[in-house]
Amino acid sequence: PVNQRNREVPVVPQGISRDDFLKALEELKGELGGENVEVNDQPLRDGWYMEHPNTHDMMTILDEEEFVAGAVVFPGSTEEVVKIVKWANRWLIPVFPISMGRNLGYGGAAPRVRGSVTIDLGKRMNKILDINPQDYTCLVEPGVSFYGLYDELGKRGLRDHMWVDTPDLGGGSIIGNTVDRGVGYTPYGDHWACHSGLEVVLPTGEVIRTGMGALTQGGENTWGVFPYGFGPYSDGIFSQSNFGIVTKMGMTLMPNPGGHESFMYTFPNEEDLGPLMEIIRPLRISTILENVAQLRHVTQAIAASGLPKSKFYSGTGTIPADIIHQAAAQTPVGDHTWAYYGMCYGHPHIRAYKLAIIDAEFNKIPGCRKINPSTIPEDEYFWSRDRIASGTPDIHELRWVNWAPNGAHIAFSPVSPIRGPDATKLFQLGKRIHEQYGIDFMPAFCVGLREMHLIVEIVFDRDDPEEKKRALGCLRDMVDEAAKKGYGEYRTHLVLMDQVAGTYAWNDGALGKFNERLKDALDPNGILAPGRCGIWGKRYRGRGWEM
Ligand code: FAD
Repeated sequence: PVNQRNREVPVVPQGISRDDFLKALEELKGELGGENVEVNDQPLRDGWYMEHPNTHDMMTILDEEEFVAGAVVFPGSTEEVVKIVKWANRWLIPVFPISMGRNLGYGGAAPRVRGSVTIDLGKRMNKILDINPQDYTCLVEPGVSFYGLYDELGKRGLRDHMWVDTPDLGGGSIIGNTVDRGVGYTPYGDHWACHSGLEVVLPTGEVIRTGMGALTQGGENTWGVFPYGFGPYSDGIFSQSNFGIVTKMGMTLMPNPGGHESFMYTFPNEEDLGPLMEIIRPLRISTILENVAQLRHVTQAIAASGLPKSKFYSGTGTIPADIIHQAAAQTPVGDHTWAYYGMCYGHPHIRAYKLAIIDAEFNKIPGCRKINPSTIPEDEYFWSRDRIASGTPDIHELRWVNWAPNGAHIAFSPVSPIRGPDATKLFQLGKRIHEQYGIDFMPAFCVGLREMHLIVEIVFDRDDPEEKKRALGCLRDMVDEAAKKGYGEYRTHLVLMDQVAGTYAWNDGALGKFNERLKDALDPNGILAPGRCGIWGKRYRGRGWEM
């Protein structure tokens, strides 16, 4: 059978015949129940963020047929995940775990190897197993989203007591985001640093717990409060990898700081970036600037209105600077170029102390403007930042994806120190390569504690192959050029994983070889998420899978 694009269905992974694949899936139905195994034989549907597909990337940068699942399975327990990996080893079928599959900009729900069987953990394994108000911790399964935990805190009357740190979009999975080392915007924004203890199904079917959960008995008592346990700290190898399937995770929650106050400053010129970073660094490292704050370029501020580019500009090529500034005049950014969105926490007298220092420092940039929040309309992007930095999930951020028709995006996300020359170098590199490819440049610097991620979102029309080709070319060039200057990506899209892994090649690729040794030891048949983060098991290596 074929679907409407003349694609043979289901998509069968390489190395197994169609008949055997279907026979294997029938066997799996016997173990999980027929309703928990879905063959991907339907036309691909993109849906939207809250109703996203689990068979492919709804924002695909390649042809959507490239990274597509052969089937999707829905385990209901750790024991069922074990059954699935044992089954995959018996049949040598690649499997690809997702928690919820909203990894948009980095591959969505797509598997790296076409025809893999996607393990959609989140649909049935979605319990909040514990919330501990004394310790400010929780224990969750893969299907618990930031919204889900926030709602549950509300139901238990705990929202005033403790906060959930959330990324820009709240519909993702706490586990999925954390194992991909995603970020949020309160002082608890480094999610990986804030997790504590995992339960993991290894690719051969053994189940381990890390940290205090590994105690023979009673581990639950300290699971969420001490991440290390005893012996080697193994959690790291289960983040951005393909060494195991995380089925439970402890997470720390932030105590309500007793008050909070968002602030916004704008700065007039692109050239202010360097001096501004020199001001931000000491303030951030000493936590006068307390949260993972954002310095955004005016182009993204306009796009965050949700209006398409065509509303502002009907010409070809990148949107001219004077049109950007004309449009920005209607927003709180006004005629300026940079907007800093921050949050101050604590009781009013503590906030007043910190805000006075920030104000004095930021005002060293000539022309700096503090925007009075009472003048900012309710629907403005500022209020989305306010919600997110105070533990309330949101989806306003999705709006800039409308910049292009059939809007999709892919991210360039290099790490650098919080220093003027580094920020300026990366900014100029990105701007030059965007201009070369005729793509609008939308940089946002997300300032961590001692480093920052520059996040540049390339927005493209997912139905326009030529535009997709340009977007990918632009991204690949930026990754290479940045790496040559000593800047590496903190995370990347499925399509770029081999390229990015290749930039971490010190000492003749020693780290990559180490990862391959781990992969071959833990996953001798290479069934788990082949290719994720550039790690291929020996069954795949050297056979042309890398891209
Ligand atoms: P999933 O898609 O479930 O997981 C991500 C990947 O991790 C999977 O592909 C899989 O390879 C692996 N994985 C997942 N679960 C497991 C498991 N249990 N065991 C082993 N491996 C697993 N991200 C941020 O971090 N911060 C942001 O501020 C942010 N802003 C965004 C703004 C926009 C407009 C968009 C569109 C995206 C943004 N993202 C951001 C990216 C993305 O939406 C989030 O990171 C999201 O939380 C990831 O999706 P998910 O949580 O459903 O994870």
